[in-house]
Amino acid sequence: MSLPARARPDACPGVFATHDAADGALARVRLPGGRVTATQLWVLADCAEQLGDGAVHLTSRGNVQLRGLSRDTGELVARLSDAGLLPAPSHERVRNFLASPLSGLAGGFVDVRPLVAELDAAVCARPELAGLPGRFLFALDDGRGDVAAEDADVCWQATADGAGTLLRAGQPVGPEPDPVRALVREALRFMEIRGDAWRMRELPQFADAPKRPARPVPVGEFRRADGGRGLCLAPLFGELSAASLRLLAESPEVVVTPWRTVIVPEFRAELAELSSDSQVSACIGTPGCAKSRADVRGDARRVSAHAHFSGCERRCGKPRDAADVVAENGGYRVEGTWVPVERVAELLVQKGNP
Ligand code: SF4
Repeated sequence: MSLPARARPDACPGVFATHDAADGALARVRLPGGRVTATQLWVLADCAEQLGDGAVHLTSRGNVQLRGLSRDTGELVARLSDAGLLPAPSHERVRNFLASPLSGLAGGFVDVRPLVAELDAAVCARPELAGLPGRFLFALDDGRGDVAAEDADVCWQATADGAGTLLRAGQPVGPEPDPVRALVREALRFMEIRGDAWRMRELPQFADAPKRPARPVPVGEFRRADGGRGLCLAPLFGELSAASLRLLAESPEVVVTPWRTVIVPEFRAELAELSSDSQVSACIGTPGCAKSRADVRGDARRVSAHAHFSGCERRCGKPRDAADVVAENGGYRVEGTWVPVERVAELLVQKGNP
């Protein structure tokens, strides 16, 4: 396999370099390990309400996006910087660090939360790593195999003996006792060999690496290691209104997961209303994206199946194991079969996606 020829540079959005969407500028705010404090939730709520479309949108990498922004992001940058959400402007778009969201709360062999902070500092201390593609993904898995299944470019996974394993493009390489040093070393090595590749998987030696089945944190209540109760919430379409963010901010910290859910360490019954029973997901669709052929979120509300509605073939944000529903010719192509919108739910059931 030859390396892909890129006609354009990696355009992953950040806050300093936003994406120009049909509904205004789109800014992606990196949350290393998905962790966000109550103060930061308040700031995000105010930014969404006063500068954006009124909501925060969770991403499939445990980050958040603000949409409908002015192209002049000076005010946004100032507010997010004050809240500590932009600590390393030169490395803003490369701070893509997944971590097992329940680490330190329940299960796992080690608490990887301190390692996320160490890795963040180590990556930001290397000027050459500011040039990593914005799509390059690091992961720290506490041994349960959840983020190790998320197709990270480089991952360290804890093992029962207290050591760990290094993975490249999801494939175990060998034992690795020093996660931060190893992940930085791997990122530097990728910079040397990448050519114009954005991801490890684009290199010939990893092109056929099999993907692991997704292992998301189950939605609902969970039992913490200390006997207390926590909650995993699944907002419909990963969208949280400013009011919902302020409700979440009554907890000192929450964790955004790569499955567009939110972990609240302390159970609170009133938060259940923020969670949806539906398993359906959708890209932003019309009117937010100029490429979209339909109001996919409006149509997706009619079903609750584990299916992902996309406005075009790019399938932005599609969970790997969700049924594929793509807008086409005034209807939808459901797992390869075209039907009018009224028949999408019926066809999903026929195809085994109730
Ligand atoms: S899948 Fe297509 S329509 Fe949907 S957000 Fe992505 S580019 Fe836009």
